[in-house]
Amino acid sequence: MFVLRGSTVLQGDLGSASAKDHKKLRLYILDSTALISGQTDFSKKEFATTPSVISEVMHDESVKNVVEVAVYSGQLEVSKPSEYSIKEVERIAISTGDMIKLSRTDIEVLALALDKSKAGIEVVIMSDDYSIQNLAKRMAIKVVGVLYPGIRKQIIWLAYCPVCRSEYGVSSLNVCAKCGAELKRRPAKQ
Ligand SMILES: [Zn+2]
Repeated sequence: MFVLRGSTVLQGDLGSASAKDHKKLRLYILDSTALISGQTDFSKKEFATTPSVISEVMHDESVKNVVEVAVYSGQLEVSKPSEYSIKEVERIAISTGDMIKLSRTDIEVLALALDKSKAGIEVVIMSDDYSIQNLAKRMAIKVVGVLYPGIRKQIIWLAYCPVCRSEYGVSSLNVCAKCGAELKRRPAKQ
């Protein structure tokens, strides 16, 4: 509900919104942990996130208040990513083996970053999620950790069965085709 209110405010204030766009150097894209962390200074930077992230954090009253103020003041943009970018992120995630580790919300955060990046905006994703960080690097999008320093290397995840030791390489399988055990993943040696 407040998301609609936020966009209404933005529409009613186009003059200052476009003036702000000119000096906008960076847009920080937040995932749920980044939004909950309280490490985001809404007075100093421009932020964006997806409706799915918002719905994940709104159950927390203190976060809800901060988010509402940020959206209302235009410091936090809430946008749905394009289906095109969602598909692109999924394709890359499948190729790196990260697909299985990413939630729909994670994919939308990455897709939103991709949309903004394609629009010529310098984006930085804020996330402690390893798979989000990995994919951001694949897409040549900057990423910073929130509580932990970001990973330095790109990772390819290989699936293997902890029971019968079958190796599946990069795979979207959840369970072993031979014995039915739940697969685990480890980073490929580079
Ligand atoms: Zn097995």
